[in-house]
Amino acid sequence: MEDKLTRFKSILSDLVDLGHSMALLGWDQQTYMPPGGAEDRGNIQSTLSRLSHEKFTSEEMGSLIEDLVPYAGTLDPDSIDACLVKAVKKQYDKQTRVPAEWVVENAKATTLAHHVWEQARAEKNFDKFCPHLEHMIQLRREYADFFAPYDHVYDPLLDNFERGMKTAEVQAIFNDLRPQQVELIRSISEQPQVDDSFLHQPFPEKDQWAFGVDVITCFGYDWDHGRQDKAVHPFCTNFGIGDVRITTRVDPNWVNPALFGTMHENGHALYEMGVDRSLARLPLATGASMAVHESQSRMYENLIGRSLPFWKFYYPRLQEVFPSQLGNVSLETFYKGINKVHPSFIRVEADEATYNLHIMLRLELEIAMMEGSLEAGDLPEAWNSRMQDYLGVTPPDDALGVLQDVHWSSGLMGYFPTYALGNLVSVQLWERMQADMPDMEEQIERGEFASILGWLREKVHRHGAKYEPQDLIQRVTGSTINPQPYVRYLKSKFGAIYEL
Ligand SMILES: [Zn+2]
Repeated sequence: MEDKLTRFKSILSDLVDLGHSMALLGWDQQTYMPPGGAEDRGNIQSTLSRLSHEKFTSEEMGSLIEDLVPYAGTLDPDSIDACLVKAVKKQYDKQTRVPAEWVVENAKATTLAHHVWEQARAEKNFDKFCPHLEHMIQLRREYADFFAPYDHVYDPLLDNFERGMKTAEVQAIFNDLRPQQVELIRSISEQPQVDDSFLHQPFPEKDQWAFGVDVITCFGYDWDHGRQDKAVHPFCTNFGIGDVRITTRVDPNWVNPALFGTMHENGHALYEMGVDRSLARLPLATGASMAVHESQSRMYENLIGRSLPFWKFYYPRLQEVFPSQLGNVSLETFYKGINKVHPSFIRVEADEATYNLHIMLRLELEIAMMEGSLEAGDLPEAWNSRMQDYLGVTPPDDALGVLQDVHWSSGLMGYFPTYALGNLVSVQLWERMQADMPDMEEQIERGEFASILGWLREKVHRHGAKYEPQDLIQRVTGSTINPQPYVRYLKSKFGAIYEL
């Protein structure tokens, strides 16, 4: 049996290498590839996808899994080998239902759709992207049907990003959360607004870049195993535990996108960098799920990066870099400014109190398109009317509305809810961490972040994807995903800022 396990792991390592090759091509596509390279890149990606799919769904893999499942049942269920066999079997059962022709067509369609989306977004022209979106939805319906019968047509998509989670569970969590966030936003809107005008002025690009680098170096980002480049839509990717890259975008007239975006992607990167080396070149060497991943990025961006203790330490440094912009702005004014609650068009720039509503809107539209109750052509209108209902604003054009996110052009239907779930998980973990380290805030005020990273490494990062997300969250916090800690956090933080 040891021989079979060795062979099994060797095939998996080849597959992980193929996956990392595709990730490297994807990184290049979003950073340095010339626009005319889209079609050629699509061909390469589709070949690698096909090879990977064929190798993973081979007869040899099937018979190895068949032999190894009973063996894994005799092992400690928390051992790497037991978790690996269990996770790979689930993935194998999923992938063997998807024909190779679908994988090839999907890879080509996705590369093209992404390229057209970039043009359509620049031209604020939804009609140009619409046929590609229709094709993406059609392909996802076909995909869901490979998994029939299902409780909901969206379940097979959601499971790809949040293992084991059902559409109905997410809807129940959101239905609990939505009225509480709407109520909070309503009370805030009745209070005097805080000033954040000082954030919108010229901030030289190279100084913004350098400040972000300084902050994440303090957080523990390891430049021997990472780098940062520019991208339209920032992301984190990796080609192993030893090469974890982030991207950011800089607005020369607004300090927030680069500042908080860099902290955010750093949170994702620290997770991937912190996976235990014993999982290297195995499919478990990644985050437990998108929501758990997002909990790490939101923790660094918001729970640390938008907190008062953090800026007690870092604000004098920021003032030193930008004396003419911030020299006369007090710490309290700055802190309130970066936490201004203001319903806006763009999800990635949304504040903590309104962010989840952007997600709920997207989830509802995705589900409607998948169910067939909403046509792609009617999407801009549906988007704009929901923006008005939830946030009280209507985007002036499609670039600020329905075309703003990369996800639909990349076929990532099922991904959006994980952002909001990640917010909830971040505070669940934070409360636990605070109970374990009562002087955490004092450490942050002194600019010390090593114990926080140490706690996250020990409780979350090192396990990689060994445990399913709800299992991991339960092990660390004593509860599965629960919206109440997040609501408590929002009420306490914004209650103080807006004197509710
Ligand atoms: Zn993220």
